[in-house]
Amino acid sequence: MEKPPIIWTNVLVFAVTFTIAAVGIPAYEIMVGFTWMEIVATILCLGYCGMSITAGYHRLWAHKTYDAHPIMQWIFAIGGAFALQNSALHWSSDHRIHHKFVDQNDKDPYSAKMGFWYSHIGWMLREYQAHRYHDYSNVRDLQNNKIVMFQHKHYLLLTVLTNFGIPLFLGWLSGNYIGMLLSVGFLRLVLSHHFTFFINSLAHIWGNQPYTDQNTARDNGVLAFLTYGEGYHNFHHIFEYDYRNGIRWWQFDPTKWLIKSCSWVGLTRNLKVCPEDRILKAKALMQLKRAQVKALQLPNAEQILQRMEHEYQLLLERMQAYFELQKTLLAQKKVGMQHKKAQLIQSYNEFDLRKQYQELREGFQFQQRQWQLFIEQYA
Ligand SMILES: [Zn+2]
Ligand SMILES: [Zn+2]
Repeated sequence: MEKPPIIWTNVLVFAVTFTIAAVGIPAYEIMVGFTWMEIVATILCLGYCGMSITAGYHRLWAHKTYDAHPIMQWIFAIGGAFALQNSALHWSSDHRIHHKFVDQNDKDPYSAKMGFWYSHIGWMLREYQAHRYHDYSNVRDLQNNKIVMFQHKHYLLLTVLTNFGIPLFLGWLSGNYIGMLLSVGFLRLVLSHHFTFFINSLAHIWGNQPYTDQNTARDNGVLAFLTYGEGYHNFHHIFEYDYRNGIRWWQFDPTKWLIKSCSWVGLTRNLKVCPEDRILKAKALMQLKRAQVKALQLPNAEQILQRMEHEYQLLLERMQAYFELQKTLLAQKKVGMQHKKAQLIQSYNEFDLRKQYQELREGFQFQQRQWQLFIEQYA
């Protein structure tokens, strides 16, 4: 099959920026030397670009996992142009297709099944999907967003202004134009590009799959560090409407921390999270699947599988009972706050319900431990 035509603009941008950074940075360091000002400015601008993509393009616009104040949206729109990753509208359209048709080589724009190079950068070097390049039918909601559309319309101007304007402005401040252009201009852009590209390539190749094996997406703590939390990609592909990617407190997800902390001052709202029981269920199912495969190789497989199924069913039952009562209690609390009479009835019922809730919680937590201990034998 003949390969589609090369997109020379993209090839040149990637090749030139990479070459200047790879040659210019070490050469300048040897001949002149960077100061702390260039280093700090590069790290800050790298973070600004990266988070504009993760918190803005990805979690806000592509997935609508929360709402953001126009101030935040403008910051992301400008940072996204600075990151030079196409307009938010185009990026989101591509990304929604990626989720809908993940791993389908003919539809997923950066299908991981096409290999590392293709999913990392190759997909942008040729006109693989020219037929749908201007089809924005899957982002009609974003077409009503004035900030997104302004950025889309003036994207080229914004990229030039940010990519030359910011380094030159910083160069004027520090009195070192060349140093800032090399570090904040070129090095920052190249690193920012490839760190984001890792999400499409490495995060679909390297890591584990705690929540689903229905696609190639992986959870990977190392990648999360480079991608502002997006490395928890296995979780993200199954629960894409959750504003978090790393859901545990110890998981590195600064994008989540940014969105959450902005909600405290009213800059973000309606943060969506997936119900905990659905997450636990998905995880338990994956544990069961893996353990079943291992157990099948053992001499007393039938016996083990029976016990496994029993423990698993018990876990699901206790999980459901606990979370259902939790929901009822939460709903009652809401009503109770609105009506005095309901509040009175609630106080009568409360004691019994609280006791029942406590019991269900203990029962569920006990079974969770039992399940964990049992399943670890076949991990
Ligand atoms: Zn996504
Ligand atoms: Zn993905």
